[in-house]
Amino acid sequence: MPKPISIILISISLLIGFFFYSCSSTKNTNSNSKAGVVITFDDYFVNEWKEADAQLSIYNWKATFCVSDFEKLTTSDISNLKALQNKGHEIAGHGFRHLNAKEFAKRNNKQQYLKVEIFPLIEAFKKEGIEIKSFAYPFGAKTQTLDFELKKHFEIIRGTAKGGKKVADNANFYNGTRLANGIGIDSNYEHFDLNYIKKVLQYAKKHNKIVIFYAHKPLEKATNEYEVEMKTLQLICEFVKNNQLQFYTLKELNSLKKR
Ligand SMILES: [Zn+2]
Repeated sequence: MPKPISIILISISLLIGFFFYSCSSTKNTNSNSKAGVVITFDDYFVNEWKEADAQLSIYNWKATFCVSDFEKLTTSDISNLKALQNKGHEIAGHGFRHLNAKEFAKRNNKQQYLKVEIFPLIEAFKKEGIEIKSFAYPFGAKTQTLDFELKKHFEIIRGTAKGGKKVADNANFYNGTRLANGIGIDSNYEHFDLNYIKKVLQYAKKHNKIVIFYAHKPLEKATNEYEVEMKTLQLICEFVKNNQLQFYTLKELNSLKKR
């Protein structure tokens, strides 16, 4: 006896439904990562980073310190960086001399850039027993050619992203590639206010994303450019703790990708 047409139609719609369900679930399992944050600091404010760590370790936080200007570091800076690394933070690179990569490579060439800015950076830290696996561009100045070259030497390369009106359109969420972009949390940035940062965090939580932040010098009160207030860092850490988000370092993003 032939099946009634209604049964055939129901079976077809179930099949179509299942097809779309499997497509959408494939999309969601693109990354096995859990929502979280990567907090990065640039330049060489080692004393202030150490001080911030003393205050924020109650959150079991993890940060990535992207260090530049190696020749300006003191012996005590180096030992403080090692201590930070031993506590689970990542020490990353930010240029041997903090050159503007885009401009320098344009005026000279990419080989020269690697020779004066990247190889000495990797070598100097290696001599101190610190292996640099991630890199943040000074001034966020980058090119695709440099990205391609730097990928040969680092696992994750961080640029900068602006905070737009619509958080969903921001480039500051980890996108599953080795090129990541951070959003600035120093107090002087145009997009910056605590409510905006909260919105970014809430978006990450809701959509299972990892936000990448970048800052420079942590202080109780910011009075200049390149300063992040401790209350901003506390707000982020509180949010992570209260919402079961996770702290990641930059290089950990690469291992998530491989999972
Ligand atoms: Zn910098």
